[in-house]
Amino acid sequence: MKVCVFPGSFDPITSGHIDLVRRALPLFDQIIIAVGVNNAKQRLFPLEKSMNWIQQCFPNEARVSVRSYEGLTVDFCRSVKAEFLLRGLRSTSDFDYEKTISQMNNIIGKGTETVFLISQPEYSHISSTIVREIIKGGADVSPFVPEAIKAEISDFYGKNHK
Ligand code: ADP
Repeated sequence: MKVCVFPGSFDPITSGHIDLVRRALPLFDQIIIAVGVNNAKQRLFPLEKSMNWIQQCFPNEARVSVRSYEGLTVDFCRSVKAEFLLRGLRSTSDFDYEKTISQMNNIIGKGTETVFLISQPEYSHISSTIVREIIKGGADVSPFVPEAIKAEISDFYGKNHK
């Protein structure tokens, strides 16, 4: 069985992430969206909220699940018996960053292979970092986040950060 981990911060999940998972589904039997917990980095949205939003984006897809993890991504892969990692490439700067991590993960993960999908042109400008800035600035994020959760994201921010 081909199990793949899609690691990231997903703070919050965007339409770019969703597109990547949809396109990766034919390649794997199971995709685990793994939200990395890094206590040194403050999230805009709580971990549980972010995970709940991811779940809401795949209501009828039993092959997609959501987990959180701490520590090395390859250790998490081992714990769920995943041999593959999924990452998206939006630009050459993504490539430069991902190349080294993928090579290191292959060594420390003893053969863990990273599969890269190039982002579709209509999503390649979307990043969680910029979506967070837009939310903080009070502008409409609906062009960048999944339809199912866009209202919740704005409401949650409005209620908890004003
Ligand atoms: P971001 O890089 O947007 O802050 P994450 O750390 O959660 O968000 O990213 C997790 C993975 O998703 C990374 O491999 C990243 O390249 C990929 N990704 C993020 N946004 C997109 C997008 N718009 N298109 C394709 N891949 C993306």
